[in-house]
Amino acid sequence: MNYCPHCGAPVTSKIPEADDRPRFVCEACAAIHYQNPKMVVGTIPETGGSILLCRRAIEPARDKWTLPAGYLENGETLQEGAARETLEEAGYQVSDLVPYAIANIASINQVYIMFRCSLADSAGAPGSESLEIKLFQPPEIPWQELAFRSIREVLKLYCQDREEGKFPFHMIDIL
Ligand SMILES: [Zn+2]
Repeated sequence: MNYCPHCGAPVTSKIPEADDRPRFVCEACAAIHYQNPKMVVGTIPETGGSILLCRRAIEPARDKWTLPAGYLENGETLQEGAARETLEEAGYQVSDLVPYAIANIASINQVYIMFRCSLADSAGAPGSESLEIKLFQPPEIPWQELAFRSIREVLKLYCQDREEGKFPFHMIDIL
């Protein structure tokens, strides 16, 4: 950050009083601009034993497959955000969202929160961020063509749990 979003004056990086790490501080209006991790919310939609994946139309990882997921918006609950992302990227309504996994990616200041869910009967359609959507039986999942490590790890856990018929909550760290 170079300029204060409040008043437009230059900001400097310094440790505010009673704080313990550098922040962007505006010398003109004294605003402290905190930067905190972003939450990514998404779903693992399943229907008839198949899992819905989207092929990304945008960078990063264009052409790779991923679960529907994206940044949580202000004013949304986690489950609302996860359902919205699924509708936007795959054109599917989802229901019965159950928290399934948290993936901490501290190195890039992101936390993924992924929900298990069911797909509504209606057919989906790729949104503007997807080239293609497809239902995969677990043995058909294109493991080598998945977009992100967080998605791969969560999907791997999900497929293992599915075999055992139990879905405990998971929390993993992606280094
Ligand atoms: Zn300012």
